[in-house]
Amino acid sequence: MPRLVMKFGGTSVADLDRIRNAAEKVKREVDNGYDVAVVVSAMSGKTNELVGWVRSASKPEGHDGPGLYDAREYDAVVSSGENVTAGLMALTLQEMGVPARSWQGWQVPVKTTDAHGAARIEEIDTTNLDAKFNEGMHAVIAGFQGIAPDGRITTLGRGGSDTTAVAFAAALKAERCDIYTDVDGVYTTDPRITKKARKLNKIAYEEMLELASLGAKVLQTRSVEMAMRNKVRLQVLSSFEDTPGTLVCDEEEIVESNVVSGVAYSRDEAKVTLISVADRPGIAAAIFGPLAEAGINVDMIVQNISEDGRTDMTFSCPSDDLTRAQTVMEEAKTKGGINYRDLVVDQDVSKVSVVGIGMRSHAGVAATMFKALSAEGVNIKVISTSEIKVSVLVDRKYMELAVNALHDAFELEKTA
Ligand code: ADP
Ligand code: ASP
Ligand code: MG
Repeated sequence: MPRLVMKFGGTSVADLDRIRNAAEKVKREVDNGYDVAVVVSAMSGKTNELVGWVRSASKPEGHDGPGLYDAREYDAVVSSGENVTAGLMALTLQEMGVPARSWQGWQVPVKTTDAHGAARIEEIDTTNLDAKFNEGMHAVIAGFQGIAPDGRITTLGRGGSDTTAVAFAAALKAERCDIYTDVDGVYTTDPRITKKARKLNKIAYEEMLELASLGAKVLQTRSVEMAMRNKVRLQVLSSFEDTPGTLVCDEEEIVESNVVSGVAYSRDEAKVTLISVADRPGIAAAIFGPLAEAGINVDMIVQNISEDGRTDMTFSCPSDDLTRAQTVMEEAKTKGGINYRDLVVDQDVSKVSVVGIGMRSHAGVAATMFKALSAEGVNIKVISTSEIKVSVLVDRKYMELAVNALHDAFELEKTA
């Protein structure tokens, strides 16, 4: 029998009615003759609640910063939301006459690395699942979780159920991986930011990968990476409306597209500047080596023109990493010999990016972007470019304005 993976996100399984609505979609595909692997997220809001509990439980007495938790226990707690929805989905399917059972990550097993909180899937052994499919039993899999080599439960990073779904689609050689969510596809930008956002019928893996990694949370970045590598046909569609979704596919399958396909944003970024560091070989390595070792996701980097053998070095990172980045830099000053004069932090910045494979063959995208931002009086703090994207750091209060201005400037509401 052909196989299908159907993934339902948090809002799609937020209560029993919604689980029933999702189960009806599953039943429809079962009736169409598919063996279905359903992947579920936790009910919306549940994972945040669990993370909050972990933080509170592990907060040292009299300390009101973020809790310093044991990542293995974080995973033990935070993975539990998906167990509930997997069981409820299996029960609902059974109630509708669809033979199904739930699978937690360790039961499959979904083997991962031991990087708790951000584990990577290494292997999915489908022997047990195959046997059950052969008995006519459909599978409901708890997303977002796996098992480390030492047997402890792991989670795959926020939004990780998308990656669970794609990994199963690859392992089961599914015909397609359908990601059901609260929007009916991938849009030119987050439809919550502008009503002018337009749904794309198709988007190339590479563009989706850039959009996701630059902040479009409709798909977890790793899920797109995995789909691209394994040529999984990935579709994003609505749990609530019966409208066609967006197919994520090879660029050869896309006949016409705009130079820029989409605008992404990442709201919570921080900018760090080391004032007056020595301009000598090895200085960048001395700064970014320790940051990398500490697992800090450094993104944009700018080094200023040198004056008198000294220079300023600026980088950006997610706001969540800022405190650790500051600590690492202070240590590097005393122990690593980076003798900067001052460390200046800007915590109220966001990153806004335009993405499109058409940029490979069209000049002028950056210029159009800068002009549009200038017309709105938005100051650009840092710029970075790659083959298919241009990103800028702007004050957070201008983020939505910038997204809207760029959407207009590249006329993304119009089809190619
Ligand atoms: P789920 O819980 O189903 O995994 P998410 O909240 O993780 O859903 O992702 C869906 C959300 O992604 C949408 O509600 C939308 O606000 C946001 N989003 C951001 N960028 C885009 C985009 N370019 N296209 C569609 N949705 C986007
Ligand atoms: N429940 C997890 C989260 O909120 C995983 C997911 O929904 O994809 O991040
Ligand atoms: Mg998600």
